[in-house]
Amino acid sequence: MSSLNHCIKFELDVKDENIVFKDYFYKSIKLQKHKIYEAELIQPACPFCGSLDLLHNGNLITNIRYLTANASLPVIIKLAKQRVRCRDCSR
Ligand SMILES: [Zn+2]
Repeated sequence: MSSLNHCIKFELDVKDENIVFKDYFYKSIKLQKHKIYEAELIQPACPFCGSLDLLHNGNLITNIRYLTANASLPVIIKLAKQRVRCRDCSR
């Protein structure tokens, strides 16, 4: 596990093992400065049958607003969810 991932998880108090943080940067959205974190949700096994035989089919990006004490600097987590299809149960 990379130290960057570790660091951001500590900062945001994220404990989910399947979420891996990759990058962070500032971005202006509607003239307001936002802190953006890029993360990926890893899908190691099928949630239905537990099979590891998964077909990866791109990513689905979700923007999650993260509430912090500092209202003047909103934090957004760009979470990329892996789109997977299970070869065993086809879900
Ligand atoms: Zn399955």
